[in-house]
Amino acid sequence: MREQTVFDLVIIGSGPGGYVAAIRAAQLGLKTACVEKARSLGGTCLNVGCIPSKALLESSEHYISARKHLKQHGIRVEGVSIDVGAMMARKDRVVKTLTSGIAMLFKKNGVTQVTGTGRVVAPDAVEVTGGEETTRLRTRRILIATGSTVAVPRGFRLDGKYVVSSTEALEFDAVPKRLVIIGAGVIGLELGSVWARLGAKVTLIELLPRILAGFDSELATTAQKLFQRQGMKFILGARVGRAEIVGQEVEVGYDDKDGNARSITCDRLLVSVGRRPYTEGLGLEDLGIEMDGHGRIAVDASYQTSVPGIYAVGDVIAGPMLAHKAQEEGVAAVEMMAGHVAKVDYDAIPAIAYTQPEIATVGATEDALKEQGVPYARGTFPFQANGRAKAMGQADGWVKVLADSRTDRILGAHIIGPRAGDLIAELALAIAFEGSSEDVARSCHAHPTLAEVVKEACLAVEGQPIHM
Ligand code: NAD
Repeated sequence: MREQTVFDLVIIGSGPGGYVAAIRAAQLGLKTACVEKARSLGGTCLNVGCIPSKALLESSEHYISARKHLKQHGIRVEGVSIDVGAMMARKDRVVKTLTSGIAMLFKKNGVTQVTGTGRVVAPDAVEVTGGEETTRLRTRRILIATGSTVAVPRGFRLDGKYVVSSTEALEFDAVPKRLVIIGAGVIGLELGSVWARLGAKVTLIELLPRILAGFDSELATTAQKLFQRQGMKFILGARVGRAEIVGQEVEVGYDDKDGNARSITCDRLLVSVGRRPYTEGLGLEDLGIEMDGHGRIAVDASYQTSVPGIYAVGDVIAGPMLAHKAQEEGVAAVEMMAGHVAKVDYDAIPAIAYTQPEIATVGATEDALKEQGVPYARGTFPFQANGRAKAMGQADGWVKVLADSRTDRILGAHIIGPRAGDLIAELALAIAFEGSSEDVARSCHAHPTLAEVVKEACLAVEGQPIHM
């Protein structure tokens, strides 16, 4: 075994939590190594998650636009067809550029990249296997950022061809005629959108009586209507029991909302019922690292586990499984290690579904405020009354701002509409600055922009929007 020099910090995992933490730690002067078992850096997000799915969402949107939407702009396009291979190759190029970008950033910042599978063998040592020889990295601190993996319902087996996870659904070599998706969450809706746009008949089967669990329910209701208009079908309140591959088809058995046994046949079945923390093989049990009862690593306010010197961030700990949440935690964790004051504002973490239209949310949902008995005022404003949205021909949706009715402080904001994912940033900032709806309403928003809908929704909190 080869023993390497002593590091200040060894990070296991190079996803958004791990690689951002590594760069920040190096900036702060910590001698840092990042261990990654995959050949390419960036974790699920860059390789088989956020980035490739956004590339395909973009390509499929261009296709639908050429087929359906350009007409309204007076542009005639004929003979539009798709080349799935070329679409996939473009997606792979986008991924490759970004993952190799991380390797460059590591070099630039002096982060040591170690390829292999990391295992914590002592609070000051990480053993790395899978390379040419086993290496033991000695370190003052360890940060676990191993992320999450696909959750599979009991009794289901993914064969990777007919019954697949999101990873393979980003790789189909042809458009499936019938795609059934279990779980109408973010992955189901994003990948369902991609394949529906490209021509698949998409049916989503969801356990709950609504889609987009955890998002504001009014947002989910509007979204469902718009997705149905795009041709997606929803079977809600249904319990899926089995999936059987018969020849080249998959037969999915489920109990509908009234308890009747039903089945549906498809060409491909995507299982997207959530993800679970990826902690196997890290040696956590041997070290006695405490878990939180939900399979996640328990940490304190400085992201330190029950074993001093060992830290964890991102999908392996509590909180939403989002790349940007992991990044914030990674930065905060290493800043605290370096003696700085740092804190993640969990009330100001946006979440976005990159569907058409986009869906974005930050802070409290209206459902939660009602449940908690918080007195609030709401302001809503539709994109239909916005000049820019009209000019774009994308005026479906609205912005909703929820403010404390005693102080006017913004508690939550929810957007469905064009560029919702970008528009939510202003409201996340307002929440982070403890701003009021009046603060946002009184700040000048350029005209004509989609951002004016945010301003108008804030004016509507006081019941006085200008353009309604
Ligand atoms: P999710 O939690 O968003 O949705 C899973 C859905 O499956 C839920 O609605 C749940 O009720 C349903 N479900 C659970 N068990 C079921 C069953 N047996 N039958 C039918 N339905 C069932 O999970 P996801 O869509 O798989 O995404 C995984 C994680 O990745 C999430 O944490 C998500 O936030 C994250 N993600 C984020 C983005 C983004 O930010 N744009 C994109 C993709 C994934």
